[in-house]
Amino acid sequence: MSNEVKKQASCADASDPFALTVQQARDIIRRTLVPIRDEEHVPIRSALGRVLANDCISPINVPSHTNSAMDGYALAGADLPQEGFRNYRVIAKAFAGRRLAEVCEAGQCVRIMTGAPMPQGTDTVIMQEQVEKLGDARVRVDSRHRVGQNVRQAGEDIAQGSVVLKAGRVLAAADLGVLASLGFSELRVRRKPRVAFFSTGDELRSIGETLAEGEIYDSNRYSLFAMLEQLGVDIVDLGVVKDERRALEAGFRQASSMADVVITSGGVSVGEADYTKEILEHQGKMSFWTIAMKPGRPLTFGRLGNATFFGLPGNPVAVMLTFDQFVRPALAYLAGGSWPTQLLVEASSVCDLKKRPGRMEFVRGVLSYDDDGRLSVGPSGAQGSGILTSMSRANCYILLPEACAGVAEGETVSVQPFATTI
Ligand code: AMP
Ligand code: MG
Repeated sequence: MSNEVKKQASCADASDPFALTVQQARDIIRRTLVPIRDEEHVPIRSALGRVLANDCISPINVPSHTNSAMDGYALAGADLPQEGFRNYRVIAKAFAGRRLAEVCEAGQCVRIMTGAPMPQGTDTVIMQEQVEKLGDARVRVDSRHRVGQNVRQAGEDIAQGSVVLKAGRVLAAADLGVLASLGFSELRVRRKPRVAFFSTGDELRSIGETLAEGEIYDSNRYSLFAMLEQLGVDIVDLGVVKDERRALEAGFRQASSMADVVITSGGVSVGEADYTKEILEHQGKMSFWTIAMKPGRPLTFGRLGNATFFGLPGNPVAVMLTFDQFVRPALAYLAGGSWPTQLLVEASSVCDLKKRPGRMEFVRGVLSYDDDGRLSVGPSGAQGSGILTSMSRANCYILLPEACAGVAEGETVSVQPFATTI
Protein backbone atom coordinates (compact mmCIF):
# COMPACT_ATOMS: atom_id res chain seq x y z
CA MET A 1 0.00 0.00 0.00
CA SER A 2 2.75 2.42 0.88
CA ASN A 3 4.38 1.64 -2.48
CA GLU A 4 1.14 2.39 -4.28
CA VAL A 5 1.00 5.82 -2.71
CA LYS A 6 4.58 6.64 -3.61
CA LYS A 7 4.05 5.73 -7.27
CA GLN A 8 1.42 8.41 -7.72
CA ALA A 9 3.12 11.46 -9.16
CA SER A 10 2.41 14.56 -7.18
CA CYS A 11 3.16 18.20 -7.80
CA ALA A 12 5.43 18.08 -4.80
CA ASP A 13 7.93 15.79 -6.55
CA ALA A 14 10.45 17.44 -8.80
CA SER A 15 11.25 14.28 -10.69
CA ASP A 16 9.32 11.17 -11.56
CA PRO A 17 11.08 8.22 -13.20
CA PHE A 18 7.93 7.40 -15.22
CA ALA A 19 7.49 10.90 -16.58
CA LEU A 20 7.95 11.84 -20.23
CA THR A 21 9.88 14.97 -21.11
CA VAL A 22 8.02 17.73 -22.94
CA GLN A 23 10.00 16.89 -26.08
CA GLN A 24 9.22 13.17 -25.86
CA ALA A 25 5.52 13.90 -25.56
CA ARG A 26 5.68 16.24 -28.55
CA ASP A 27 7.51 13.63 -30.61
CA ILE A 28 4.91 10.95 -29.85
CA ILE A 29 2.07 13.33 -30.72
CA ARG A 30 3.72 14.26 -33.99
CA ARG A 31 4.36 10.66 -34.97
CA THR A 32 0.75 9.72 -34.24
CA LEU A 33 -0.97 12.49 -36.19
CA VAL A 34 -2.02 12.19 -39.81
CA PRO A 35 -2.43 15.61 -41.49
CA ILE A 36 -5.82 16.35 -43.03
CA ARG A 37 -5.84 15.76 -46.79
CA ASP A 38 -9.37 16.91 -47.71
CA GLU A 39 -9.40 19.97 -49.93
CA GLU A 40 -11.78 22.80 -50.74
CA HIS A 41 -11.90 25.99 -52.78
CA VAL A 42 -12.06 29.33 -50.98
CA PRO A 43 -12.17 32.91 -52.25
CA ILE A 44 -8.84 34.67 -51.75
CA ARG A 45 -10.26 36.91 -49.00
CA SER A 46 -11.07 33.82 -46.92
CA ALA A 47 -7.67 32.23 -47.42
CA LEU A 48 -5.65 33.98 -44.71
CA GLY A 49 -4.07 31.36 -42.44
CA ARG A 50 -5.28 28.49 -44.61
CA VAL A 51 -2.94 25.80 -45.93
CA LEU A 52 -2.36 25.67 -49.68
CA ALA A 53 -3.36 22.28 -51.10
CA ASN A 54 -1.25 22.49 -54.26
CA ASP A 55 1.71 24.38 -55.67
CA CYS A 56 0.64 27.75 -57.11
CA ILE A 57 2.12 28.15 -60.58
CA SER A 58 2.23 31.61 -62.06
CA PRO A 59 0.12 31.98 -65.21
CA ILE A 60 1.83 35.29 -66.04
CA ASN A 61 5.03 37.26 -65.72
CA VAL A 62 5.24 39.81 -62.89
CA PRO A 63 5.79 42.52 -63.90
CA SER A 64 3.88 41.59 -67.05
CA HIS A 65 5.89 44.01 -69.21
CA THR A 66 9.33 45.56 -69.02
CA ASN A 67 8.77 48.98 -67.44
CA SER A 68 10.46 52.04 -66.02
CA ALA A 69 11.55 52.04 -62.36
CA MET A 70 11.84 55.86 -62.34
CA ASP A 71 10.29 59.05 -63.61
CA GLY A 72 12.72 60.14 -66.36
CA TYR A 73 13.63 59.66 -70.00
CA ALA A 74 13.72 56.37 -71.87
CA LEU A 75 16.21 55.88 -74.69
CA ALA A 76 18.34 53.22 -76.38
CA GLY A 77 21.39 52.29 -74.29
CA ALA A 78 23.44 51.96 -77.49
CA ASP A 79 22.70 55.63 -78.16
CA LEU A 80 24.26 56.87 -74.85
CA PRO A 81 27.32 59.12 -75.13
CA GLN A 82 30.65 57.38 -74.39
CA GLU A 83 32.01 60.72 -73.20
CA GLY A 84 30.81 64.33 -73.00
CA PHE A 85 27.13 64.92 -73.71
CA ARG A 86 24.46 64.07 -76.23
CA ASN A 87 21.22 65.89 -76.90
CA TYR A 88 17.95 64.06 -77.52
CA ARG A 89 14.60 65.12 -78.91
CA VAL A 90 11.66 64.16 -76.65
CA ILE A 91 9.17 62.53 -79.06
CA ALA A 92 6.39 61.41 -76.69
CA LYS A 93 5.21 60.88 -73.10
CA ALA A 94 4.74 57.35 -71.68
CA PHE A 95 2.40 56.76 -68.73
CA ALA A 96 1.81 53.65 -66.59
CA GLY A 97 -0.92 51.43 -67.99
CA ARG A 98 -0.59 52.57 -71.62
CA ARG A 99 1.55 51.28 -74.47
CA LEU A 100 3.02 53.90 -76.82
CA ALA A 101 2.69 53.57 -80.58
CA GLU A 102 5.86 55.59 -81.23
CA VAL A 103 9.20 53.90 -81.92
CA CYS A 104 12.22 55.68 -80.46
CA GLU A 105 15.10 56.19 -82.93
CA ALA A 106 18.71 57.30 -82.46
CA GLY A 107 18.89 60.86 -81.09
CA GLN A 108 15.38 60.53 -79.64
CA CYS A 109 14.00 59.81 -76.19
CA VAL A 110 10.60 59.43 -74.51
CA ARG A 111 9.50 61.22 -71.33
CA ILE A 112 8.52 58.25 -69.11
CA MET A 113 6.70 57.77 -65.78
CA THR A 114 7.37 55.07 -63.21
CA GLY A 115 5.66 51.80 -64.18
CA ALA A 116 5.10 52.80 -67.81
CA PRO A 117 5.94 50.06 -70.34
CA MET A 118 9.30 50.68 -72.04
CA PRO A 119 8.58 52.19 -75.50
CA GLN A 120 9.82 50.33 -78.58
CA GLY A 121 13.45 51.14 -79.30
CA THR A 122 14.34 51.88 -75.63
CA ASP A 123 16.01 49.80 -72.92
CA THR A 124 17.42 52.41 -70.53
CA VAL A 125 15.96 55.16 -68.33
CA ILE A 126 17.76 58.31 -67.20
CA MET A 127 16.36 59.77 -63.97
CA GLN A 128 14.73 63.14 -64.54
CA GLU A 129 17.06 64.74 -61.97
CA GLN A 130 20.08 63.67 -64.07
CA VAL A 131 19.16 65.34 -67.38
CA GLU A 132 19.56 68.94 -68.36
CA LYS A 133 16.41 70.32 -69.99
CA LEU A 134 17.00 72.33 -73.12
CA GLY A 135 13.58 73.89 -73.72
CA ASP A 136 10.37 71.89 -74.01
CA ALA A 137 11.31 69.02 -76.26
CA ARG A 138 15.06 68.58 -75.86
CA VAL A 139 17.22 67.13 -73.09
CA ARG A 140 20.96 66.75 -72.60
CA VAL A 141 22.42 63.56 -71.10
CA ASP A 142 26.01 63.03 -69.90
CA SER A 143 28.20 59.90 -70.05
CA ARG A 144 27.80 58.53 -66.51
CA HIS A 145 24.93 56.13 -67.37
CA ARG A 146 24.73 52.35 -67.79
CA VAL A 147 22.87 50.50 -70.52
CA GLY A 148 19.65 48.98 -69.07
CA GLN A 149 19.60 51.06 -65.89
CA ASN A 150 16.37 51.89 -64.04
CA VAL A 151 14.37 49.29 -65.92
CA ARG A 152 12.37 46.44 -64.39
CA GLN A 153 12.36 43.39 -66.63
CA ALA A 154 9.17 41.46 -67.39
CA GLY A 155 9.06 38.40 -65.10
CA GLU A 156 11.78 39.85 -62.86
CA ASP A 157 9.71 39.21 -59.69
CA ILE A 158 7.82 36.11 -60.83
CA ALA A 159 8.44 34.26 -64.10
CA GLN A 160 5.48 32.72 -65.94
CA GLY A 161 5.32 28.97 -65.18
CA SER A 162 7.35 29.17 -61.97
CA VAL A 163 6.15 27.85 -58.59
CA VAL A 164 5.28 30.89 -56.52
CA LEU A 165 4.04 29.22 -53.34
CA LYS A 166 4.38 25.57 -52.46
CA ALA A 167 1.68 23.16 -51.26
CA GLY A 168 1.58 23.16 -47.45
CA ARG A 169 2.21 26.89 -47.20
CA VAL A 170 0.25 28.63 -44.44
CA LEU A 171 -0.98 31.73 -46.24
CA ALA A 172 0.08 35.09 -44.81
CA ALA A 173 -1.02 38.58 -45.84
CA ALA A 174 1.85 39.05 -48.31
CA ASP A 175 1.02 35.70 -49.91
CA LEU A 176 -2.52 36.88 -50.62
CA GLY A 177 -1.01 39.96 -52.26
CA VAL A 178 1.33 37.83 -54.36
CA LEU A 179 -1.52 35.54 -55.42
CA ALA A 180 -3.75 38.52 -56.24
CA SER A 181 -0.93 39.96 -58.38
CA LEU A 182 -1.18 36.77 -60.44
CA GLY A 183 -4.94 37.11 -60.85
CA PHE A 184 -5.99 34.25 -58.55
CA SER A 185 -9.48 34.85 -57.15
CA GLU A 186 -9.95 31.40 -55.59
CA LEU A 187 -7.48 29.04 -53.98
CA ARG A 188 -7.41 25.34 -53.30
CA VAL A 189 -6.73 24.79 -49.60
CA ARG A 190 -6.87 21.98 -47.08
CA ARG A 191 -10.02 21.61 -45.03
CA LYS A 192 -9.73 23.21 -41.59
CA PRO A 193 -9.46 20.88 -38.61
CA ARG A 194 -12.70 20.69 -36.64
CA VAL A 195 -12.20 20.76 -32.89
CA ALA A 196 -14.87 19.80 -30.33
CA PHE A 197 -14.24 20.58 -26.69
CA PHE A 198 -15.92 20.42 -23.31
CA SER A 199 -15.11 20.94 -19.65
CA THR A 200 -15.58 18.27 -17.03
CA GLY A 201 -16.37 18.83 -13.38
CA ASP A 202 -19.33 18.75 -10.99
CA GLU A 203 -18.20 22.05 -9.49
CA LEU A 204 -18.44 23.95 -12.77
CA ARG A 205 -21.16 26.41 -13.64
CA SER A 206 -21.53 28.22 -16.94
CA ILE A 207 -21.44 31.99 -16.90
CA GLY A 208 -24.92 33.42 -16.44
CA GLU A 209 -25.74 30.80 -13.78
CA THR A 210 -25.65 31.45 -10.04
CA LEU A 211 -22.84 29.94 -8.04
CA ALA A 212 -23.69 27.77 -5.04
CA GLU A 213 -21.11 27.20 -2.34
CA GLY A 214 -18.06 25.37 -3.65
CA GLU A 215 -18.97 25.98 -7.26
CA ILE A 216 -16.85 27.92 -9.74
CA TYR A 217 -17.37 29.36 -13.17
CA ASP A 218 -16.04 27.31 -16.04
CA SER A 219 -13.23 29.48 -17.36
CA ASN A 220 -11.33 26.86 -19.33
CA ARG A 221 -13.92 26.76 -22.06
CA TYR A 222 -13.39 30.44 -22.66
CA SER A 223 -9.60 30.40 -22.77
CA LEU A 224 -9.75 27.30 -24.97
CA PHE A 225 -12.32 28.93 -27.21
CA ALA A 226 -10.11 32.00 -27.59
CA MET A 227 -6.97 30.02 -28.35
CA LEU A 228 -8.81 27.89 -30.92
CA GLU A 229 -10.40 30.96 -32.46
CA GLN A 230 -6.95 32.48 -32.96
CA LEU A 231 -5.86 29.35 -34.79
CA GLY A 232 -8.74 29.67 -37.23
CA VAL A 233 -10.00 26.10 -36.78
CA ASP A 234 -13.68 25.11 -36.82
CA ILE A 235 -14.92 25.04 -33.24
CA VAL A 236 -17.69 23.05 -31.57
CA ASP A 237 -18.28 24.02 -27.92
CA LEU A 238 -20.02 21.15 -26.13
CA GLY A 239 -20.34 22.91 -22.77
CA VAL A 240 -19.82 21.37 -19.34
CA VAL A 241 -20.10 17.63 -18.74
CA LYS A 242 -20.64 16.33 -15.22
CA ASP A 243 -18.27 13.82 -13.64
CA GLU A 244 -20.77 11.05 -14.21
CA ARG A 245 -20.15 7.88 -16.14
CA ARG A 246 -23.19 8.21 -18.45
CA ALA A 247 -22.63 11.89 -19.15
CA LEU A 248 -18.93 11.43 -19.86
CA GLU A 249 -19.51 8.41 -22.08
CA ALA A 250 -22.06 10.34 -24.11
CA GLY A 251 -19.85 13.46 -24.19
CA PHE A 252 -16.81 11.63 -25.51
CA ARG A 253 -18.89 9.77 -28.07
CA GLN A 254 -20.66 12.87 -29.35
CA ALA A 255 -17.44 14.87 -29.56
CA SER A 256 -15.48 12.19 -31.39
CA SER A 257 -18.26 11.62 -33.91
CA MET A 258 -18.24 15.24 -35.07
CA ALA A 259 -14.62 16.39 -34.90
CA ASP A 260 -11.05 15.68 -35.98
CA VAL A 261 -9.81 16.66 -32.54
CA VAL A 262 -11.48 16.41 -29.14
CA ILE A 263 -10.16 18.46 -26.24
CA THR A 264 -11.38 18.19 -22.67
CA SER A 265 -10.16 19.85 -19.52
CA GLY A 266 -10.21 18.43 -16.03
CA GLY A 267 -10.88 14.97 -14.80
CA VAL A 268 -7.48 13.51 -15.57
CA SER A 269 -5.80 14.24 -12.26
CA VAL A 270 -5.11 11.54 -9.67
CA GLY A 271 -8.36 10.20 -8.25
CA GLU A 272 -10.57 11.17 -11.14
CA ALA A 273 -8.27 9.58 -13.69
CA ASP A 274 -9.21 5.98 -12.94
CA TYR A 275 -12.80 6.73 -13.61
CA THR A 276 -12.36 8.68 -16.84
CA LYS A 277 -9.58 6.32 -17.84
CA GLU A 278 -11.90 3.37 -17.99
CA ILE A 279 -14.35 5.16 -20.27
CA LEU A 280 -11.59 6.52 -22.52
CA GLU A 281 -9.88 3.17 -22.80
CA HIS A 282 -13.18 1.61 -23.71
CA GLN A 283 -13.88 4.15 -26.46
CA GLY A 284 -10.40 4.56 -27.86
CA LYS A 285 -6.69 3.96 -27.68
CA MET A 286 -5.22 6.12 -24.94
CA SER A 287 -1.96 7.04 -23.25
CA PHE A 288 -2.11 8.56 -19.78
CA TRP A 289 1.01 10.55 -19.40
CA THR A 290 2.79 12.19 -16.58
CA ILE A 291 4.92 14.86 -18.18
CA ALA A 292 8.00 16.24 -16.46
CA MET A 293 6.73 19.78 -16.62
CA LYS A 294 5.29 22.40 -14.34
CA PRO A 295 2.51 23.35 -14.45
CA GLY A 296 0.48 20.77 -16.34
CA ARG A 297 1.81 17.39 -15.48
CA PRO A 298 -1.03 14.93 -16.32
CA LEU A 299 -2.03 14.70 -19.95
CA THR A 300 -4.10 12.14 -21.79
CA PHE A 301 -3.46 11.65 -25.47
CA GLY A 302 -4.82 9.16 -27.94
CA ARG A 303 -7.51 8.24 -30.42
CA LEU A 304 -11.14 8.49 -29.54
CA GLY A 305 -13.14 6.89 -32.36
CA ASN A 306 -11.79 8.61 -35.46
CA ALA A 307 -10.66 11.70 -33.58
CA THR A 308 -7.40 12.68 -31.91
CA PHE A 309 -7.96 13.21 -28.20
CA PHE A 310 -6.27 15.60 -25.79
CA GLY A 311 -7.33 15.34 -22.15
CA LEU A 312 -5.85 18.49 -20.63
CA PRO A 313 -5.50 19.11 -16.89
CA GLY A 314 -8.24 21.07 -15.13
CA ASN A 315 -6.23 23.91 -13.67
CA PRO A 316 -6.81 27.01 -15.79
CA VAL A 317 -3.11 27.80 -16.27
CA ALA A 318 -2.18 24.18 -16.95
CA VAL A 319 -4.87 24.09 -19.64
CA MET A 320 -3.39 27.07 -21.44
CA LEU A 321 0.19 25.89 -21.08
CA THR A 322 -0.45 22.33 -22.28
CA PHE A 323 -2.51 23.76 -25.14
CA ASP A 324 0.41 26.00 -26.13
CA GLN A 325 3.04 23.31 -25.87
CA PHE A 326 1.19 20.33 -27.35
CA VAL A 327 -2.18 21.13 -28.90
CA ARG A 328 -1.20 24.28 -30.78
CA PRO A 329 1.64 22.66 -32.76
CA ALA A 330 -0.46 19.51 -33.22
CA LEU A 331 -3.31 21.49 -34.78
CA ALA A 332 -0.90 23.30 -37.11
CA TYR A 333 0.53 19.95 -38.16
CA LEU A 334 -2.92 18.42 -38.65
CA ALA A 335 -4.00 21.39 -40.72
CA GLY A 336 -1.43 20.27 -43.26
CA GLY A 337 1.37 22.65 -42.55
CA SER A 338 4.55 21.53 -40.89
CA TRP A 339 5.22 21.18 -37.17
CA PRO A 340 5.92 24.79 -36.15
CA THR A 341 9.18 25.74 -34.51
CA GLN A 342 8.54 28.09 -31.61
CA LEU A 343 10.46 31.36 -31.62
CA LEU A 344 12.73 31.61 -28.56
CA VAL A 345 14.64 34.69 -27.43
CA GLU A 346 17.23 35.15 -24.74
CA ALA A 347 16.70 37.65 -21.94
CA SER A 348 18.32 38.53 -18.68
CA SER A 349 16.38 37.52 -15.57
CA VAL A 350 15.46 40.47 -13.33
CA CYS A 351 15.44 38.24 -10.23
CA ASP A 352 16.46 34.87 -8.83
CA LEU A 353 14.20 32.01 -9.94
CA LYS A 354 13.97 29.00 -7.67
CA LYS A 355 13.83 25.58 -9.25
CA ARG A 356 14.75 21.96 -8.58
CA PRO A 357 16.16 19.82 -11.38
CA GLY A 358 13.97 17.08 -12.86
CA ARG A 359 11.20 18.76 -14.77
CA MET A 360 10.80 21.58 -17.20
CA GLU A 361 9.20 24.67 -15.73
CA PHE A 362 7.28 27.31 -17.62
CA VAL A 363 7.21 30.53 -15.64
CA ARG A 364 4.64 33.07 -16.77
CA GLY A 365 6.73 36.14 -17.44
CA VAL A 366 6.84 39.75 -18.54
CA LEU A 367 9.42 40.37 -21.25
CA SER A 368 10.48 43.97 -21.82
CA TYR A 369 13.35 46.14 -23.01
CA ASP A 370 15.33 47.72 -20.21
CA ASP A 371 16.72 51.28 -20.37
CA ASP A 372 19.79 50.05 -22.24
CA GLY A 373 17.65 48.36 -24.89
CA ARG A 374 18.40 44.84 -23.64
CA LEU A 375 15.68 42.22 -23.23
CA SER A 376 14.92 41.44 -19.62
CA VAL A 377 12.30 39.19 -18.09
CA GLY A 378 10.71 38.42 -14.73
CA PRO A 379 7.70 36.50 -13.39
CA SER A 380 4.32 38.11 -14.06
CA GLY A 381 3.02 37.24 -10.59
CA ALA A 382 2.26 34.26 -8.38
CA GLN A 383 2.84 31.01 -10.24
CA GLY A 384 0.23 28.63 -8.78
CA SER A 385 -1.34 26.61 -11.60
CA GLY A 386 -4.79 27.97 -10.79
CA ILE A 387 -3.70 31.62 -10.85
CA LEU A 388 -4.92 32.81 -14.20
CA THR A 389 -4.32 36.51 -13.58
CA SER A 390 -0.56 36.03 -13.82
CA MET A 391 -1.18 34.35 -17.17
CA SER A 392 -3.27 37.29 -18.24
CA ARG A 393 -0.46 39.69 -17.24
CA ALA A 394 2.22 37.58 -18.93
CA ASN A 395 3.52 38.11 -22.45
CA CYS A 396 5.85 35.09 -22.46
CA TYR A 397 6.90 31.85 -20.82
CA ILE A 398 10.32 31.73 -19.21
CA LEU A 399 11.65 28.24 -19.99
CA LEU A 400 13.61 26.52 -17.28
CA PRO A 401 14.83 23.19 -18.72
CA GLU A 402 14.76 19.86 -16.85
CA ALA A 403 18.37 20.08 -15.69
CA CYS A 404 18.18 23.70 -14.49
CA ALA A 405 18.66 24.05 -10.73
CA GLY A 406 17.62 27.67 -10.44
CA VAL A 407 18.49 30.99 -12.01
CA ALA A 408 20.36 33.88 -10.43
CA GLU A 409 19.41 37.50 -11.06
CA GLY A 410 21.12 38.73 -14.24
CA GLU A 411 21.52 35.25 -15.72
CA THR A 412 20.37 34.66 -19.29
CA VAL A 413 17.21 32.60 -19.74
CA SER A 414 15.31 31.31 -22.74
CA VAL A 415 11.95 32.92 -23.33
CA GLN A 416 8.98 31.93 -25.48
CA PRO A 417 7.16 35.17 -26.41
CA PHE A 418 3.39 35.00 -26.94
CA ALA A 419 3.48 37.57 -29.73
CA THR A 420 5.83 39.61 -31.87
CA THR A 421 5.29 42.83 -29.90
CA ILE A 422 5.90 43.34 -26.22
P1 AMP B 1 -9.32 18.47 -12.10
O1 AMP B 1 -8.18 18.16 -13.01
O2 AMP B 1 -10.64 18.17 -12.73
O3 AMP B 1 -9.16 17.84 -10.77
O4 AMP B 1 -9.29 20.03 -11.86
C1 AMP B 1 -8.20 20.67 -11.23
C2 AMP B 1 -8.59 22.03 -10.76
O5 AMP B 1 -8.97 22.83 -11.85
C3 AMP B 1 -9.77 22.03 -9.79
O6 AMP B 1 -9.54 23.03 -8.82
C4 AMP B 1 -10.92 22.42 -10.67
O7 AMP B 1 -11.96 23.04 -9.97
C5 AMP B 1 -10.28 23.36 -11.64
N1 AMP B 1 -11.00 23.33 -12.91
C6 AMP B 1 -11.28 22.22 -13.59
N2 AMP B 1 -11.98 22.52 -14.71
C7 AMP B 1 -12.12 23.86 -14.70
C8 AMP B 1 -12.75 24.79 -15.59
N3 AMP B 1 -13.35 24.37 -16.72
N4 AMP B 1 -12.69 26.10 -15.30
C9 AMP B 1 -12.08 26.51 -14.18
N5 AMP B 1 -11.47 25.71 -13.31
C10 AMP B 1 -11.49 24.39 -13.56
MG1 MG C 1 -12.51 17.79 -12.06
